[in-house]
Amino acid sequence: VLQLENVHKSFGGTEVLRGIDLTVHAHDVVALIGASGSGKSTLLRTVNLLERLDDGQIWLRGVDISTPTTKVDAVRARIGVVFQQFNLFPHLSVLDNVTIASRRVLGVNRTLAEQRAVELLDRVGLADKARDYPDRLSGGQQQRVAIVRAIATDPELLLLDEITSALDPMLVGEVLDLVRRLKADGTTIVMATHEMAFARDVADHVVFLDAGVIAEQGPPATMFTAPTTERAKEFLDRFL
Ligand code: ATP
Ligand code: MG
Repeated sequence: VLQLENVHKSFGGTEVLRGIDLTVHAHDVVALIGASGSGKSTLLRTVNLLERLDDGQIWLRGVDISTPTTKVDAVRARIGVVFQQFNLFPHLSVLDNVTIASRRVLGVNRTLAEQRAVELLDRVGLADKARDYPDRLSGGQQQRVAIVRAIATDPELLLLDEITSALDPMLVGEVLDLVRRLKADGTTIVMATHEMAFARDVADHVVFLDAGVIAEQGPPATMFTAPTTERAKEFLDRFL
């Protein structure tokens, strides 16, 4: 579904991504792990075209989305994104938050969009919150709404950036459960995470970023029990 080749990105004089090659297969959950500052968020942001690449290519379903002529909005409509801070629109109800992209970008009519939204909210146990505003919800509920909003347009790919980092530990489980269900539904997911136990549990593929390069990658069984590089060993020793 997604392919990155030799992706480079610098800020000022600092090269933050230094030649990333990565393939993400349909229905896979890929966990991006690595120390703070290793480039996980930057990598997700370049895929979503929030950052321009300095060099390299990104293909989504075989189409190069990294060309200067790429229609950024069209690409973003095919990729769902959830960030650490529940970035719901505070002035919109839960229902409007979830339906706004399908209505504005995809042109789905309000009735249909709302039907689908209520269905999705119902599946995450939040149908009764549809008319509430985000500030009335707990952090875990807000983050589940953010995920529902991200999948409401049926994206081909879902990018999750540390979606549980800002949550009260009590609320982490309900959000991770939702990610598990998305995986069971076959959603293709790339997630940056510090939740190593969760990554080991749900990821099909684990990618260890170290100072802007992929130092090691592989199935969780190997990555977490027998990493081959010193850098990955050091990093995981601090977590496990
Ligand atoms: P964390 O685990 O803390 O979220 P990360 O792996 O997501 O870290 P990034 O946010 O991708 O790391 O940052 C990688 C490096 O790029 C950091 O050194 C950061 O300071 C730098 N950086 C990121 N965004 C910008 C920006 N817009 N301008 C300048 N520097 C940036
Ligand atoms: Mg980050």
